[in-house]
This record gives sequence, C-alpha cells and structure tokens, in this order.
Amino acid sequence: MYYRNNKLIIPETINELHQTVLKNPHYVFFAGGTYLMKRHSLYPSTSSQRIISLEMIKDLFEVTRNLKHVEVGSMVTTNKLLEIGTLAFNNLLLDTLSNTATHIVRNQITIGGALATNNIRFSLPGTLSCMDASVELIDLSKTKIISKIIPIEKLYKNDELLLEEGTLIKKIIIPLKTYNFERFYCVGDPIKDPTSTVIFAFRANINQTLLNNIKLSITFPTAGIHISTVIPSELDGVQIPIIPKNAISISKKLVIELEKNMTGVTPLQKERAKRIIQSILYQITPSKKFIDKIE
Ligand SMILES: Cc1cc2nc3c(=O)[nH]c(=O)nc-3n(C[C@H](O)[C@H](O)[C@H](O)COP(=O)(O)OP(=O)(O)OC[C@H]3O[C@@H](n4cnc5c(N)ncnc54)[C@H](O)[C@@H]3O)c2cc1C
Repeated sequence: MYYRNNKLIIPETINELHQTVLKNPHYVFFAGGTYLMKRHSLYPSTSSQRIISLEMIKDLFEVTRNLKHVEVGSMVTTNKLLEIGTLAFNNLLLDTLSNTATHIVRNQITIGGALATNNIRFSLPGTLSCMDASVELIDLSKTKIISKIIPIEKLYKNDELLLEEGTLIKKIIIPLKTYNFERFYCVGDPIKDPTSTVIFAFRANINQTLLNNIKLSITFPTAGIHISTVIPSELDGVQIPIIPKNAISISKKLVIELEKNMTGVTPLQKERAKRIIQSILYQITPSKKFIDKIE
C-alpha cells in the first residue's frame, strides 16, 4: 500500500482497500478522476476528504467472458470497453461509448466512475439498464466483506445515487443478448447543458412484422433515469410499420408517463423526448430479409 501523503492512499488489493475503508470511513474513491477533478474541494489539502485511489487494484481491471455474459471490472476505461466491445457487444453499447466525450477523455473515464457520479446521470447507466446489465457491489464498511449483485437501475432512485458509503462497484455484468433493433440518441450536451439534454437507449426484437422484447431507458442528466412501462405495453405484439397517427399518439402517452413519474424534466426535454420516440417509431420497419421473402 502506498501513501503519497496523508490524504491520498493507494491500496494494491481488495483486502488492503477493505482495511483502508475501515480505518477511513469518510473518503472518496478516485477512479479516472474526470468528474472529481472538476471539484476543487476534493484536491488534497488539510481540509479535504481522504482520497482512496483504485488505480493499483488489479482485480478491478479484469474482463472475463463466458457464453452468456461479459464481466467488466469497474476500473476498465470506456476506451478499453470500446476496444473489447467491437468483438462482443451490440451497437447500443458501442454507440453509447463512442458518443461519450473525446478519445483522450475516454482513456480516463472508467465504467465504475461513469455509474457512480453523485448528482448527475450520464449516458452509460441508461444504456446498461436497457441491456439488462447488473453490478456487483462489495460492502467494505463491516469487518467481513459482503458482496451482492443488483440490476443497474437499482443503483438509482430518481436523481439520487443509492450507493452507500463503504460500498464499491466491483464489476459490471453485461448479458450477451442480441436484439435486431437498437437505437442510442443523445440530444444536447450532458456536460455543458444537462437540463436540456435527453439520452435515449431503446431496444426491441422485430419478428417478421411483430415487435417484442421492448425496453426504453431515458436519461435526463439532472432528473434521473426513467425506464418506460408505457412504451413496452404500447408496442408489444404491435404490427409494423407503425402509422404516423399511432406514432404521435404513443409519443404523447410517453410525455404523460414522464409527467406522472419524473420531477425536474424541463419542457424542452419533454418535447425532445416526444420527437425522439416518434423518430424511433418511424424507423421500425420489417427487416429486409422478410420483405425480400414476401416479394
Ligand atoms: C470533458 C468531459 C466530457 C464528458 N463527456 C461525457 C459524455 O459525453 N457522456 C457521458 O456519459 N459522460 C461524460 N463525461 C462524464 C464522465 O462519464 C464522468 O466524469 C465519470 O464520472 C467519469 O468516471 P471517472 O472514472 O473519471 O470517475 P471519477 O471522477 O474518478 O469518480 C466519479 C465518482 O464515482 C466514484 N467512484 C468511482 N469509481 C467507483 C467505484 N468503482 N465504486 C464506487 N464509487 C466509485 C468516485 O468516488 C466519484 O464520486 C464527461 C466528462 C468530462 C470531463
């Protein structure tokens, strides 16, 4: 274990991290630092919190794959995941990662850090929830380490992060399911203009002219993530293509759902959400293979 100074501690194993957390119950984990470095109150000084860097813990950089899942350590960077992803993942995740910041910043942003920002939600949690991913959390605040696996969406309640002090995101478990229709949209800039930005992650299966397995996660950076129940119930088993009149009616129902369930969504965000869902619905058409067969 290294101590750069009495504010910055660098454990090398999960056990050392556990001991560090037990001795320093008020700390902040430092992953890639892209979010923390904007907050000057956290820079090492006599008044700042203890910083526990995760940079030397090898277990957190591991990536493993079996037939059903890819397990990604929380210190894997977004660029690394993008590299691995071209072999394993679908377009929804790849589009999300390639639309995140610039190449240089993506070398810093870690998966754990992108999920654990306190008061702002970026694009990765919504996409991972749309892919039915889960996280392994380890509670380091007790003498025995306790581990549990929960779906990504259970990490948040509206705009709140539910990660308790002493808990580390160890890894993310991503199922290798495929869907033949997926869309990622980020309208606006989540960093410069979070209150007008809307981020959509949508997936469905098109089976000849029927839709099923539908999921939509909408992220409003300052208001939180909304998993729509209206969209799957309106679209499940529906014949495609969807005529414009129906698409407009479904988009209005989505806005009513947002108004009922989310606080802090601005009028511009609602209008954007309405237009993005309409655009997605117009794009859902029978696959070319199916059209070729009936012609
Ligand atoms: C210029 C710029 C552009 C950006 N553009 C985008 C964008 O387009 N889309 C987007 O989605 N995001 C974007 N981001 C945001 C980025 O995703 C966040 O800054 C994210 O927090 C980065 O992760 P990090 O590894 O740098 O986290 P850090 O800054 O190190 O940590 C962030 C928070 O997570 C906690 N934490 C970190 N790892 C763990 C863990 N394993 N377990 C528990 N808690 C942990 C830390 O304690 C801290 O509170 C951008 C950021 C910058 C600086």
